[in-house]
Amino acid sequence: MSFDLDANIVKEKANELGADLVGIVSADTLNEFPPDPKWPQTPDRISPHVKSVIVISKRIPVGAFRSKSNIPVQYMDMLVLRAMDKVGYRLTEWLESQGYPAFVTAAQETDWSYKKASYGRLSTRHLGIEAGLGTFGLEVNILTPEFGPRVYLTGILTEATIEADERITEQVCIGESCSRCLYSCPSDAVRHFGIDKRECATEAQEFGFATILKFWGQFINESEEKKRDLLRDREIFGFWQGLLRVVGSFGDCPRCLAVCPVGNDYHAFLSDIQKVIPEKTPEKVEKAKGFKEARKNGDPVDGLNDWNVRWVGPEGYKGMVARQLQAFKKEQREKEEAAAKK
Ligand code: SF4
Ligand code: SF4
Repeated sequence: MSFDLDANIVKEKANELGADLVGIVSADTLNEFPPDPKWPQTPDRISPHVKSVIVISKRIPVGAFRSKSNIPVQYMDMLVLRAMDKVGYRLTEWLESQGYPAFVTAAQETDWSYKKASYGRLSTRHLGIEAGLGTFGLEVNILTPEFGPRVYLTGILTEATIEADERITEQVCIGESCSRCLYSCPSDAVRHFGIDKRECATEAQEFGFATILKFWGQFINESEEKKRDLLRDREIFGFWQGLLRVVGSFGDCPRCLAVCPVGNDYHAFLSDIQKVIPEKTPEKVEKAKGFKEARKNGDPVDGLNDWNVRWVGPEGYKGMVARQLQAFKKEQREKEEAAAKK
Protein backbone atom coordinates (compact mmCIF):
# COMPACT_ATOMS: atom_id res chain seq x y z
CA MET A 1 0.00 0.00 0.00
CA SER A 2 1.34 3.44 -0.83
CA PHE A 3 0.94 6.41 1.51
CA ASP A 4 0.61 10.13 0.88
CA LEU A 5 3.18 11.05 3.53
CA ASP A 6 6.11 9.21 5.09
CA ALA A 7 5.23 8.46 8.73
CA ASN A 8 8.82 9.04 9.91
CA ILE A 9 8.89 12.50 8.38
CA VAL A 10 5.54 13.36 10.02
CA LYS A 11 6.82 12.18 13.40
CA GLU A 12 10.11 14.04 13.06
CA LYS A 13 8.16 17.18 12.28
CA ALA A 14 5.88 16.72 15.32
CA ASN A 15 8.89 16.13 17.57
CA GLU A 16 10.67 19.14 16.12
CA LEU A 17 7.59 21.24 16.92
CA GLY A 18 7.63 20.07 20.53
CA ALA A 19 5.68 16.79 20.84
CA ASP A 20 7.16 14.39 23.40
CA LEU A 21 5.43 11.32 21.92
CA VAL A 22 3.85 10.79 18.51
CA GLY A 23 1.81 7.94 17.04
CA ILE A 24 -0.40 7.48 14.01
CA VAL A 25 -3.69 5.65 13.59
CA SER A 26 -5.93 5.25 10.56
CA ALA A 27 -9.43 6.73 10.67
CA ASP A 28 -10.76 3.33 9.55
CA THR A 29 -9.48 1.69 12.75
CA LEU A 30 -11.02 4.42 14.91
CA ASN A 31 -14.33 4.11 13.07
CA GLU A 32 -14.28 0.33 13.54
CA PHE A 33 -13.41 0.40 17.24
CA PRO A 34 -15.21 3.27 19.01
CA PRO A 35 -14.71 3.23 22.81
CA ASP A 36 -18.44 2.68 23.30
CA PRO A 37 -20.27 1.57 20.12
CA LYS A 38 -23.54 2.96 21.54
CA TRP A 39 -22.00 6.47 21.54
CA PRO A 40 -19.47 6.36 18.72
CA GLN A 41 -16.69 8.88 19.28
CA THR A 42 -15.33 8.45 15.77
CA PRO A 43 -13.65 10.60 13.09
CA ASP A 44 -16.49 9.61 10.76
CA ARG A 45 -18.96 11.64 12.81
CA ILE A 46 -16.71 14.69 12.52
CA SER A 47 -15.67 14.49 8.87
CA PRO A 48 -15.98 11.73 6.27
CA HIS A 49 -12.77 12.93 4.59
CA VAL A 50 -10.36 12.13 7.42
CA LYS A 51 -7.91 9.32 6.60
CA SER A 52 -5.41 9.42 9.46
CA VAL A 53 -5.08 10.81 12.95
CA ILE A 54 -1.68 11.89 14.24
CA VAL A 55 -1.71 11.63 18.01
CA ILE A 56 0.72 13.84 19.89
CA SER A 57 1.44 13.88 23.57
CA LYS A 58 3.15 16.32 25.92
CA ARG A 59 4.39 15.15 29.27
CA ILE A 60 3.59 17.00 32.50
CA PRO A 61 6.91 18.01 34.09
CA VAL A 62 7.18 16.12 37.38
CA GLY A 63 8.45 18.94 39.60
CA ALA A 64 4.93 20.03 40.47
CA PHE A 65 4.03 16.52 41.72
CA ARG A 66 6.70 17.01 44.40
CA SER A 67 5.04 20.04 45.91
CA LYS A 68 2.91 20.21 49.07
CA SER A 69 -0.36 21.07 47.37
CA ASN A 70 -2.16 20.26 44.12
CA ILE A 71 -2.09 23.87 42.93
CA PRO A 72 1.23 23.76 41.02
CA VAL A 73 0.10 20.64 39.08
CA GLN A 74 -3.16 22.37 38.17
CA TYR A 75 -1.28 25.31 36.73
CA MET A 76 1.27 23.12 34.95
CA ASP A 77 -1.61 21.18 33.39
CA MET A 78 -2.89 24.35 31.79
CA LEU A 79 0.56 25.27 30.48
CA VAL A 80 1.04 21.79 29.04
CA LEU A 81 -2.36 21.93 27.33
CA ARG A 82 -1.57 25.30 25.78
CA ALA A 83 1.83 24.09 24.60
CA MET A 84 0.28 20.93 23.17
CA ASP A 85 -2.40 22.88 21.30
CA LYS A 86 0.32 25.02 19.78
CA VAL A 87 2.22 21.95 18.56
CA GLY A 88 -1.02 20.54 17.11
CA TYR A 89 -1.82 23.80 15.37
CA ARG A 90 1.65 24.12 13.84
CA LEU A 91 1.45 20.54 12.63
CA THR A 92 -1.85 21.25 10.85
CA GLU A 93 -0.19 24.21 9.15
CA TRP A 94 2.67 22.01 8.05
CA LEU A 95 0.32 19.27 6.79
CA GLU A 96 -1.61 21.79 4.74
CA SER A 97 1.65 23.18 3.35
CA GLN A 98 2.30 19.62 2.13
CA GLY A 99 -1.08 19.61 0.38
CA TYR A 100 -3.26 17.74 2.91
CA PRO A 101 -6.18 19.34 4.79
CA ALA A 102 -5.89 18.92 8.57
CA PHE A 103 -7.38 20.15 11.85
CA VAL A 104 -6.96 19.57 15.57
CA THR A 105 -9.60 18.06 17.85
CA ALA A 106 -10.37 19.88 21.06
CA ALA A 107 -8.64 17.71 23.64
CA GLN A 108 -10.80 18.77 26.58
CA GLU A 109 -14.20 19.51 25.07
CA THR A 110 -17.43 17.70 25.90
CA ASP A 111 -20.06 16.77 23.33
CA TRP A 112 -23.28 17.36 25.30
CA SER A 113 -25.22 14.87 23.19
CA TYR A 114 -23.03 12.05 24.57
CA LYS A 115 -24.18 10.54 27.86
CA LYS A 116 -24.54 14.01 29.47
CA ALA A 117 -21.06 13.65 30.93
CA SER A 118 -17.52 14.49 29.94
CA TYR A 119 -17.19 12.65 26.63
CA GLY A 120 -15.39 14.46 23.82
CA ARG A 121 -15.98 14.08 20.11
CA LEU A 122 -13.03 11.75 20.20
CA SER A 123 -11.55 10.09 23.26
CA THR A 124 -7.92 11.20 23.36
CA ARG A 125 -6.87 8.30 25.62
CA HIS A 126 -8.27 5.81 23.11
CA LEU A 127 -6.59 7.71 20.28
CA GLY A 128 -3.27 7.35 22.10
CA ILE A 129 -3.72 3.63 22.63
CA GLU A 130 -4.77 3.00 19.04
CA ALA A 131 -1.72 4.98 17.90
CA GLY A 132 0.58 2.73 19.94
CA LEU A 133 1.48 5.19 22.69
CA GLY A 134 0.30 3.19 25.72
CA THR A 135 -2.48 1.15 27.29
CA PHE A 136 -5.12 1.74 29.97
CA GLY A 137 -4.25 1.89 33.62
CA LEU A 138 -6.54 0.49 36.31
CA GLU A 139 -8.05 4.00 36.55
CA VAL A 140 -8.38 4.13 32.73
CA ASN A 141 -5.90 6.90 32.20
CA ILE A 142 -3.60 6.11 29.31
CA LEU A 143 -0.26 4.85 30.69
CA THR A 144 2.68 5.53 28.42
CA PRO A 145 5.81 3.47 29.08
CA GLU A 146 7.85 6.71 29.05
CA PHE A 147 5.86 8.96 31.41
CA GLY A 148 3.12 6.76 32.84
CA PRO A 149 -0.17 8.72 33.03
CA ARG A 150 1.58 12.10 33.42
CA VAL A 151 0.75 13.20 29.87
CA TYR A 152 -1.84 15.06 27.83
CA LEU A 153 -2.79 14.07 24.31
CA THR A 154 -4.50 15.49 21.29
CA GLY A 155 -5.26 14.34 17.76
CA ILE A 156 -4.58 16.01 14.42
CA LEU A 157 -7.07 14.78 11.85
CA THR A 158 -5.84 14.81 8.28
CA GLU A 159 -6.90 13.74 4.83
CA ALA A 160 -3.43 12.33 4.15
CA THR A 161 -2.99 8.57 4.31
CA ILE A 162 -0.02 7.83 6.59
CA GLU A 163 1.23 4.43 7.75
CA ALA A 164 -0.30 3.62 11.15
CA ASP A 165 1.57 2.38 14.21
CA GLU A 166 0.98 -0.97 15.88
CA ARG A 167 -0.91 -0.99 19.17
CA ILE A 168 0.96 -2.04 22.31
CA THR A 169 -0.63 -5.40 23.14
CA GLU A 170 1.27 -5.96 26.41
CA GLN A 171 -0.47 -4.38 29.41
CA VAL A 172 1.64 -1.40 30.54
CA CYS A 173 -0.25 -1.11 33.86
CA ILE A 174 1.02 -3.40 36.63
CA GLY A 175 -2.62 -4.01 37.47
CA GLU A 176 -4.47 -5.25 40.52
CA SER A 177 -1.33 -6.18 42.49
CA CYS A 178 -0.27 -2.52 42.32
CA SER A 179 -3.55 -0.62 42.74
CA ARG A 180 -1.67 2.48 43.92
CA CYS A 181 -4.03 4.72 41.94
CA LEU A 182 -6.97 3.14 43.76
CA TYR A 183 -5.32 3.69 47.17
CA SER A 184 -4.55 7.33 46.41
CA CYS A 185 -7.98 8.30 45.08
CA PRO A 186 -9.64 10.72 47.53
CA SER A 187 -13.13 10.04 46.19
CA ASP A 188 -12.66 6.27 45.78
CA ALA A 189 -13.63 6.60 42.11
CA VAL A 190 -11.30 3.93 40.72
CA ARG A 191 -13.08 0.84 39.43
CA HIS A 192 -11.67 -2.35 37.90
CA PHE A 193 -10.20 -0.85 34.74
CA GLY A 194 -12.92 1.73 35.00
CA ILE A 195 -13.79 5.01 36.66
CA ASP A 196 -16.82 6.54 38.33
CA LYS A 197 -16.66 9.86 36.48
CA ARG A 198 -19.08 11.61 38.80
CA GLU A 199 -17.14 10.64 41.91
CA CYS A 200 -13.87 11.60 40.26
CA ALA A 201 -15.34 14.98 39.26
CA THR A 202 -15.95 15.89 42.92
CA GLU A 203 -12.16 16.14 43.31
CA ALA A 204 -10.91 16.62 39.77
CA GLN A 205 -13.40 19.35 38.82
CA GLU A 206 -13.85 21.28 42.04
CA PHE A 207 -15.33 24.24 40.17
CA GLY A 208 -16.56 22.23 37.19
CA PHE A 209 -19.96 22.11 35.54
CA ALA A 210 -21.63 19.97 38.23
CA THR A 211 -20.53 22.41 40.95
CA ILE A 212 -21.79 25.37 38.93
CA LEU A 213 -25.20 23.71 38.46
CA LYS A 214 -25.42 22.81 42.14
CA PHE A 215 -24.45 26.32 43.25
CA TRP A 216 -26.91 28.18 41.02
CA GLY A 217 -29.63 25.58 41.65
CA GLN A 218 -29.42 26.41 45.36
CA PHE A 219 -28.93 30.12 44.76
CA ILE A 220 -32.27 30.69 43.02
CA ASN A 221 -34.17 29.38 46.07
CA GLU A 222 -32.35 31.52 48.66
CA SER A 223 -33.54 34.76 50.33
CA GLU A 224 -32.26 38.11 49.01
CA GLU A 225 -29.90 38.45 51.97
CA LYS A 226 -28.43 34.98 51.54
CA LYS A 227 -28.06 35.59 47.80
CA ARG A 228 -25.97 38.70 48.54
CA ASP A 229 -23.74 36.59 50.81
CA LEU A 230 -23.44 33.82 48.24
CA LEU A 231 -22.23 36.28 45.61
CA ARG A 232 -19.12 36.71 47.73
CA ASP A 233 -18.70 32.95 48.18
CA ARG A 234 -15.46 31.13 47.44
CA GLU A 235 -17.30 29.12 44.77
CA ILE A 236 -17.94 32.28 42.71
CA PHE A 237 -14.26 33.11 42.84
CA GLY A 238 -13.51 29.52 41.78
CA PHE A 239 -15.84 29.86 38.78
CA TRP A 240 -14.19 33.17 37.84
CA GLN A 241 -10.72 31.68 38.10
CA GLY A 242 -11.88 28.72 36.02
CA LEU A 243 -13.07 31.05 33.27
CA LEU A 244 -9.83 32.96 33.44
CA ARG A 245 -7.34 30.12 33.51
CA VAL A 246 -9.40 26.90 33.36
CA VAL A 247 -7.85 26.06 36.75
CA GLY A 248 -10.47 24.33 38.87
CA SER A 249 -12.63 23.32 35.91
CA PHE A 250 -10.86 20.01 35.41
CA GLY A 251 -7.59 18.22 36.17
CA ASP A 252 -7.71 19.47 39.75
CA CYS A 253 -6.78 16.20 41.39
CA PRO A 254 -3.39 14.79 40.43
CA ARG A 255 -3.25 11.94 42.93
CA CYS A 256 -3.60 8.95 40.57
CA LEU A 257 -1.03 10.54 38.26
CA ALA A 258 1.44 11.29 41.03
CA VAL A 259 1.60 7.80 42.54
CA CYS A 260 1.69 5.66 39.38
CA PRO A 261 5.06 3.88 39.21
CA VAL A 262 5.07 3.57 35.41
CA GLY A 263 7.65 5.70 33.60
CA ASN A 264 11.24 6.66 34.31
CA ASP A 265 10.09 10.13 35.37
CA TYR A 266 8.53 8.40 38.40
CA HIS A 267 11.71 6.44 39.21
CA ALA A 268 13.88 9.52 38.79
CA PHE A 269 11.87 12.11 40.71
CA LEU A 270 8.78 10.76 42.42
CA SER A 271 9.51 7.36 43.95
CA ASP A 272 10.94 8.91 47.14
CA ILE A 273 8.23 11.46 47.77
CA GLN A 274 5.23 9.42 46.58
CA LYS A 275 6.20 6.06 48.05
CA VAL A 276 3.78 6.29 50.97
CA ILE A 277 0.14 6.93 50.07
CA PRO A 278 -1.61 8.70 52.96
CA GLU A 279 -5.07 8.05 51.50
CA LYS A 280 -4.65 4.25 51.65
CA THR A 281 -7.28 2.62 53.87
CA PRO A 282 -8.05 -1.00 54.82
CA GLU A 283 -11.28 -0.72 52.79
CA LYS A 284 -9.36 0.22 49.66
CA VAL A 285 -6.92 -2.63 50.25
CA GLU A 286 -9.89 -5.02 50.43
CA LYS A 287 -11.30 -3.57 47.24
CA ALA A 288 -7.99 -4.15 45.43
CA LYS A 289 -7.90 -7.72 46.74
CA GLY A 290 -11.38 -8.26 45.30
CA PHE A 291 -10.17 -7.00 41.90
CA LYS A 292 -7.18 -9.35 42.03
CA GLU A 293 -9.38 -12.34 42.85
CA ALA A 294 -11.87 -11.46 40.11
CA ARG A 295 -9.08 -11.24 37.53
CA LYS A 296 -7.51 -14.50 38.70
CA ASN A 297 -10.83 -16.31 38.58
CA GLY A 298 -11.76 -14.84 35.20
CA ASP A 299 -14.95 -13.35 36.66
CA PRO A 300 -16.88 -11.03 34.32
CA VAL A 301 -15.43 -7.53 34.66
CA ASP A 302 -16.81 -4.71 32.51
CA GLY A 303 -13.45 -3.02 32.04
CA LEU A 304 -11.93 -6.30 30.85
CA ASN A 305 -14.71 -7.53 28.59
CA ASP A 306 -14.01 -8.66 25.01
CA TRP A 307 -14.47 -5.13 23.67
CA ASN A 308 -12.54 -3.18 26.32
CA VAL A 309 -9.58 -5.54 26.73
CA ARG A 310 -8.24 -4.21 23.44
CA TRP A 311 -7.23 -0.99 25.27
CA VAL A 312 -6.09 -2.65 28.52
CA GLY A 313 -3.56 -4.84 26.72
CA PRO A 314 -4.83 -8.29 25.68
CA GLU A 315 -1.55 -10.01 26.58
CA GLY A 316 -1.81 -8.94 30.22
CA TYR A 317 1.02 -7.56 32.38
CA LYS A 318 4.36 -9.14 31.52
CA GLY A 319 6.71 -7.10 33.69
CA MET A 320 7.30 -4.00 31.58
CA VAL A 321 7.69 -1.71 34.59
CA ALA A 322 10.15 -4.04 36.33
CA ARG A 323 12.21 -4.29 33.13
CA GLN A 324 12.21 -0.53 32.76
CA LEU A 325 13.27 -0.02 36.35
CA GLN A 326 16.19 -2.42 35.97
CA ALA A 327 17.34 -0.67 32.79
CA PHE A 328 16.94 2.72 34.48
CA LYS A 329 19.01 1.66 37.51
CA LYS A 330 21.71 0.23 35.25
CA GLU A 331 21.86 3.50 33.34
CA GLN A 332 22.09 5.48 36.59
CA ARG A 333 24.93 3.23 37.82
CA GLU A 334 26.83 3.65 34.58
CA LYS A 335 26.44 7.41 34.73
CA GLU A 336 27.71 7.49 38.33
CA GLU A 337 30.68 5.28 37.44
CA ALA A 338 31.54 7.46 34.45
CA ALA A 339 31.30 10.60 36.60
CA ALA A 340 33.55 9.04 39.27
CA LYS A 341 36.23 8.28 36.66
CA LYS A 342 36.42 11.91 35.50
S1 SF4 B 1 -0.88 3.03 39.86
FE1 SF4 B 1 -0.49 0.87 39.41
S2 SF4 B 1 -2.51 -0.01 39.05
FE2 SF4 B 1 -2.73 2.22 38.91
S3 SF4 B 1 -2.48 2.67 36.76
FE3 SF4 B 1 -0.46 2.87 37.67
S4 SF4 B 1 0.48 0.85 37.40
FE4 SF4 B 1 -1.71 0.61 37.05
S1 SF4 C 1 -8.21 12.27 39.35
FE1 SF4 C 1 -8.29 12.12 41.59
S2 SF4 C 1 -10.45 11.72 42.02
FE2 SF4 C 1 -10.14 11.24 39.85
S3 SF4 C 1 -9.61 9.05 39.77
FE3 SF4 C 1 -7.67 10.16 39.88
S4 SF4 C 1 -7.21 10.22 42.09
FE4 SF4 C 1 -9.40 9.74 41.89
